[in-house]
Amino acid sequence: MNPAKRRTVIAGNWKMNFTPAEATAFINEIKPMVAGKDNCDIIFCAPFVSIAAAMEAAKGSNIVIGAENVHYEAKGAYTGEVSAEMLKAIGVNTVLVGHSERRQYFGETDETVNLRTKAALAAGMRVILCMGEVKEQRLAGITNEICAMQIKLDLAGISAEDMKNVIIAYEPVWAIGTGLTATPEQAEDACAVIRATLAELYGNEVAEATTIQYGGSMNDGNAAELLSKTNVDGGLIGGASLVAKKFTAIVDAAQ
Ligand code: PEP
Repeated sequence: MNPAKRRTVIAGNWKMNFTPAEATAFINEIKPMVAGKDNCDIIFCAPFVSIAAAMEAAKGSNIVIGAENVHYEAKGAYTGEVSAEMLKAIGVNTVLVGHSERRQYFGETDETVNLRTKAALAAGMRVILCMGEVKEQRLAGITNEICAMQIKLDLAGISAEDMKNVIIAYEPVWAIGTGLTATPEQAEDACAVIRATLAELYGNEVAEATTIQYGGSMNDGNAAELLSKTNVDGGLIGGASLVAKKFTAIVDAAQ
């Protein structure tokens, strides 16, 4: 974590959890627990139907509410999808793109992730772009190559200027929701490869300014060590973002 150069971002991904009433109750519970902890951005990405309730509860606090996905077209016959303009219309400015569950269960590819990222950036939104290797790729010793390739494909055609609104979430797929966490060294190594790839694409200044989070079973017990690494600038948290005490402990580890 290098706060001198880049902002630390601790983000929760609620996935398919929390009705509007549950989202309200959760934000009301955690709001006072994270109040004044301003050394990091605090974001919760909520299911579409619970965004408005979560935003209302978060009003006046240091908590930002984001979405979990966005479509690349502005409007039209895309049943079940939500556009960047629709999200902006209800005040959402931050969105997750390319989460491994979207890639794994809903057919998202690097191409659609790239299109979604571009659409969100064109609408002036901040994107948390998720990427990372699967278990077989790590076991085959090709994690670095996979990370570099994904970054290049997912960011194709995105300008250095737009990179100000991109956060990368390095999420080894084998560590998501499994209780298996990358070691701090594994997280650091992959985040360093991602930063080197950003430097190749955009130069050192952009690479050094880009926030790179680690995600994959980050919790109150392992956050401090993961966040102590030079190239780990925050966390994207699934399971532990549903428990106010656990998420607050991760925010504390980032202070
Ligand atoms: C995630 O959903 O991005 C994630 C990292 O989940 P978990 O923390 O539960 O592994």
